[in-house]
Amino acid sequence: MSASCIFCRIASKEVPSAIVYENEDLLAFRDLSPQAPTHILVIPKRHVASLDDLGAADDALLGSMLLAAKHVATEAGLARGYRIVTNCGPDAGQSVAHLHLHVLGGRPMSWPPG
Ligand code: AMP
Repeated sequence: MSASCIFCRIASKEVPSAIVYENEDLLAFRDLSPQAPTHILVIPKRHVASLDDLGAADDALLGSMLLAAKHVATEAGLARGYRIVTNCGPDAGQSVAHLHLHVLGGRPMSWPPG
């Protein structure tokens, strides 16, 4: 846990969030500034700055994050589709240095992203 990391503080429940799913390793909660009718973030409870900080030993964590993303999308009723994004580093626009998957849905989306 990093005391200065907002997502660590959310994971420890020190900072409140709208939690939609939780297990021993992961938390999923609603984004404070939603970019689509459904916008949920899936995070590992342990501090990981970004995808760049994971390696082969973390394949189970990554797999469980993707499955949790699918689970929350299904629970949110996104039968027409959804997008899963992880911004990694400054060029991608990562603003919170704690690994997270964005789960976005509820409206048509364009491609490529900006
Ligand atoms: P990124 O720019 O990919 O790092 O995404 C960070 C996301 O975290 C943004 O979509 C923010 O709106 C969201 N965010 C930041 N602080 C909070 C918070 N306290 N609760 C929920 N979402 C947050």
